[in-house]
Parts: sequence; C-alpha cells; structure tokens
Amino acid sequence: MNSSPIAEPAYCPQEIGTHESRFKQAMKQSVEEPGRFVYTLELVPGRGSRGKTQDEVLRTAEQAAKGDLIDAVSLTDNPGGHPTLFPDVIGLEICRLGIEPIIHFTCKDKNRNQIESILYELDRIGIHNLLVMTGDYPRYGFEGQAKPVCDLDSVQAIRLISRMNAGLDLDGKAPGGGLRLPPTHTFKGAAISPFKQLESEVMAQYFKLSKKARMGADFFITQVGFDARKFDELLRYMRLQNLAVPVLGNVYVLSLPVARAMNRMLVPGCVVTDELFRTIEEEAASPDRGREASLTRAAKMIAVLKGIGYSGVHIGGPHLEYEDVERIIGLSEEFSDSWRALVSEFSFPQKSGFYLFEKDRETGLNTDVLAARQTGPRKRLGYGFMRTFHSIAFAPEAPLYALSCSFFRKLDGTRLEGPVTEIEYWIKFVSSRCRRCGDCTLAEMAFLCPQSQCPKFLFNGQCGGSNEGWCEVFPGKRKCIYVRAYERLKAYGEEQSLSGEYIRPRNWALDQTSSWANYFLGRDHRAETCDGTNGGR
Ligand code: SF4
Repeated sequence: MNSSPIAEPAYCPQEIGTHESRFKQAMKQSVEEPGRFVYTLELVPGRGSRGKTQDEVLRTAEQAAKGDLIDAVSLTDNPGGHPTLFPDVIGLEICRLGIEPIIHFTCKDKNRNQIESILYELDRIGIHNLLVMTGDYPRYGFEGQAKPVCDLDSVQAIRLISRMNAGLDLDGKAPGGGLRLPPTHTFKGAAISPFKQLESEVMAQYFKLSKKARMGADFFITQVGFDARKFDELLRYMRLQNLAVPVLGNVYVLSLPVARAMNRMLVPGCVVTDELFRTIEEEAASPDRGREASLTRAAKMIAVLKGIGYSGVHIGGPHLEYEDVERIIGLSEEFSDSWRALVSEFSFPQKSGFYLFEKDRETGLNTDVLAARQTGPRKRLGYGFMRTFHSIAFAPEAPLYALSCSFFRKLDGTRLEGPVTEIEYWIKFVSSRCRRCGDCTLAEMAFLCPQSQCPKFLFNGQCGGSNEGWCEVFPGKRKCIYVRAYERLKAYGEEQSLSGEYIRPRNWALDQTSSWANYFLGRDHRAETCDGTNGGR
C-alpha cells in the first residue's frame, strides 16, 4: 500500500492489499474455467452532484451488491458527450456498498497529464477496473459546445496505463526524472464495435482491436448490437489473430424511444436496423409497452452469447431495475440449452452489410472461411501523386531523402526557415488541410490529416461512432477518415497497413513548426522524443 497514510475509509475496501478484485478474478476464470460466466451492469450517473439519478444509481448498486449475481457495475463518463457526475467519487461510494465499479474512462475531455493524474488518484483510492475509450464526441456544455480535447486516443491511453502498471520510468531529462514510479494496478478494458456496415469500418474496428490488445488491454466489451453473426464474427477474428483476451457481449434492454434514436443513428455506434425497430414498435403496442418482450429478448441474447463463447455479458438499458436484471439472468438459464434455436431471432444484418467470414447456413452464424472481399476502389489521382512525392523524397530509401535531410539541417534556425515553413504549410493546406501541428502523420494515414479531418484527432484507428461509413460527428455529411484511408489503401492492396504500427500522441512542443524539418531531423513522433518516460519501442 502507498507510503502516505490515508484517512479511513478513503479507498475501495475490496481492493486493499490484494489488488485481486472479484471482477479481475472472474474475467481470468472465465478464460481458464469453462462455465464461469461474468455479469456486469451498466449504470449511468446524471448531471449534477446529487439528485434522483445519482440516488437511483446507488440504490441499484446496493441491490446488486446484496444480490451477489453481478460481478461489477460500470459507471459511464459523460455519455453522449454531455456533462455528468464524474464516476470516481460515486464509484468509491459504490465500493463501500460492497460491489466493485468499472469506471468508463474516456479521453475526449482530458489531456494526457490530467489522464495520468486521475489514474494515480483512482489507483490510490483502490478503484482499478477501467473501461478505456475515446468516448462520444463532446456536445453542449456551459455556454456552448465543449472543446474536444482528445489528446490521447484509447490505444495510447492503454499503452500509458500499461507503462504505469509496470512502474513508469521517468526520463532523466524530465522534471523529477531518472527514477521509476511505483506500479499502479489498473485492470484495463477497451471497447470494440463489430456492428458496422462497410468492410472498411469492420476492418478498421478489428485493426484497432489488435492494437489495443498489443498495448495491453485486459478485456473487451462490445458496443450495443443485435446481430448474433456479428457477435460470433468478433470471437472468430480474435481466435484467428490469437488474441486471447476475454470479451463481454453488450446486452442492451431496448425501449421504443431508445430504439428509435438508435435506428436514426442518433446514438454513436449503436445499431438498430429497420427490421428490429419495426419489431420493437409492434411490441410497444402491448399493455406493458413491450417491456416483457425486451426483457425476454435480453435473456435470449445472454443464452446465445454464452453459447457462442463469450466470457460474460454487460447488461444495460434505460430505467433498468435490479429486479429486471435478476429476472433476465434467471430467464437466460432457461434458454441456455436451446441457444442454437434462438440464433435466428438475432439475425438483423445491415443493408448489404459486410461479414468477414462466410455464413454457416446450418447455424446461422459463421464458418472459419474468410469471405471474398469486395474488389478495391479505383486508384485516385491526388492520392497517387502524394504517394509518388513521398516515395521520391520522404521514404528513408527515397532518392532525395539524404539530400532533404542535409537541406533541413542547413536550413534549421536560419532566416529562411520561416518562409520555407510557410511554403510547406500552404502546399499541405491545399492538399490535406494542414493544421500546422509540426508532427505530421499524413504518411501513416494515407495522406489524410487526422488533425483537420477527424473531429477526435485519432491516430491509431477508428472510434466506435461511425455509422454506414459516416463520421459520428457529421452523419450523412462527412465520411469517416478511416473509411477513406482504408479505401485509398485498398486500391493498392495495402489496407492491412492500418493495423500496423502504433502511432505516438502528437508532441505539442512541435506545434506551429515545420513538420518536414521535424521529420528529416528526427524530432517528430517517429523518433525517440523526450516525453518524460524512456519510451522504449
Ligand atoms: S472521422 Fe471516423 S474516427 Fe474520426 S471521429 Fe469521425 S467517425 Fe470517429
């Protein structure tokens, strides 16, 4: 336990001394011991420090603690981009009620230093289960729309947490550097959304999943979806990639208003197809407005996910009472032997939706045979030109690379540096709407600039919010940058490169400087930078 004495009881009683939480053990057992099935329950704190919503959250958590069916309750972090009570303090209150919280830890509103500070705070008070996400785009806040910070993406945040769990080595040049910090004990999960329509979106999600696993994700929770074949596809992809990370399937109890919002793409990344929506509408005509039907659907989905091989389920839904949760879990037991017959009740494919594997006509799920891919889009002139320009001067093996290095060495710090930087900027503004970050990632992103063309500035893969290829933030208006990058690369048979290397966060020390100079002089994210930790690739 940390050195400085902490006044009682400012920590999570379940955790002290062991750090082997019930949830962590359950997730481990779910992989090692068939039959151990994990249940988590999502709770949504509201806006304000007190009030009816916070009281309901605590009441449900207390019931869950007493009920002993649920392994942990998760607490959302500004869902939908709206400000709500941050989940750390109410998380601690829930600990004291005798059940563990999983804190939804989003990057959208915090810069990397605040992220690191909050991680120390959570570790100190014994809250170790985190679900790390980029998060829903920030929406209205105090006197207008909030600023999307997104200084780290979820892949970078998971890497930071892995480093902190190992004991962060502070670089000698950094303030207080030259020593290793005490390790933290974060059990870090990540989100994944297989419920995408386009090949580019599906593969972008799976590429990012692989990166998150490589950076140390301990578990995954799926986004909301109702397509059993997609749930099955995710586990088959992970087996294909040897990603032995436990996954919880999201089981969401729909109501008509929420189903309508999801059907209209108003909830980032959540898919309710027209067919499913019609079913919900019909059910809502019943006296209980479809409540019983929704609970039964959730119970059947649990049985199917258990049958497919998920480690557990993450239950959620509007106004879900603890009694409802107990009922769903009880009912799912009754369905568990007949889960195969229930698969057809979760066949809600998206219009001409892409599936990675061929369909198994018998089970309604997938075979392990990869489905034929759609032929690539045609090569685009503009992109082709930028590839050629890059291969002439920027690629380390390029004929003009060495010359460019010496040119920028000579130019560095001279009076000509400013005018040359201005020329660079205007060339890249016209070609890629450059934002002068000084730490260019165009080459890694098929010459699309995440600073100007991704509202969340994501470097390591698509967020979960795209729908039918449209950006979460500009539905129907702007395509997701990862959809565009995938299509550009696929024309050259290089789409797999998006699953490749980890890209470091932007170095703000380079802001408004020449990214060409920083590249050729080894000062940008590709090079060893002084980031306060010894980096170590
Ligand atoms: S461009 Fe894509 S990755 Fe970026 S915010 Fe939009 S949907 Fe998400």
